[in-house]
Amino acid sequence: MMNSFEEFQTVCQEQLDLELSDDQINMFHVYYDLLIEWNQKMNLTAITELPDVLMKHFYDSVSLCKFYGEIRTETLSVIDVGTGAGFPGIPLKIAFPNLKITLLDSLQKRVGFLNEVINSLGLTEIEAVHGRAEVFGRDQKYRDQYDLCVSRAVANFATLSELCLPFLRMGGCFISYKSEKAAEELQVADKALFLLKGKVERVKEFTLPDTDMNRTFVVVKKTAPTPKPYPRKAGTPAKSPLS
Ligand code: SAM
Repeated sequence: MMNSFEEFQTVCQEQLDLELSDDQINMFHVYYDLLIEWNQKMNLTAITELPDVLMKHFYDSVSLCKFYGEIRTETLSVIDVGTGAGFPGIPLKIAFPNLKITLLDSLQKRVGFLNEVINSLGLTEIEAVHGRAEVFGRDQKYRDQYDLCVSRAVANFATLSELCLPFLRMGGCFISYKSEKAAEELQVADKALFLLKGKVERVKEFTLPDTDMNRTFVVVKKTAPTPKPYPRKAGTPAKSPLS
């Protein structure tokens, strides 16, 4: 359990070798306050108790640095597909200001919230955009552009591959934040990855500190340009995942 922002700061240092300054901790604090305030007028998250938000939203989001060290120092362009209330994109931006982040979500109201957070925290080199991944993935401004695509709790792995891989430049990585069910989803995604030119590079399993909550990161590398037919039209990747 993390009961306070101080404990969050300590656990990040001890478990992730992630040193967050007091200014950064203050940003997480402001973000938490806005999340709770806006959650009263719109549905942003079911997780609202401070210890839960610290662990399941903030810590979970930044834990990627333990397995994908590049985010600590490199100026990577990152897109967070289906970011919702900003997870994992906003915690990643607070912890690693070197990242250039696009937050994408298909719900306009959530994008309004994200812009409020961005302005209140004074974050730069981050944008929140409203739309579907199937549409943005065909837009030349976004297709084949990013070093990294992250996504948490949006769709099964085959669907997600179709939504995410088009955004990457060749050699870029798509990282899916999964719970423990990742192995089953991966087994049925072979064909999707073959068609979309992705290759599973690494699967990293871990447990959130002092809990029994298992998490998995699946790292997929883009090996060739995404073929023209993908992503298919809005809704199809979820309705008929490639198989
Ligand atoms: N990633 C956040 C998290 O982990 O808390 C939000 C997860 S929420 C369950 C899924 C989000 O994905 C929703 O905000 C929804 O609007 C968005 N979403 C679902 N399908 C999408 C699509 N095709 N393109 C863009 N956003 C999508």
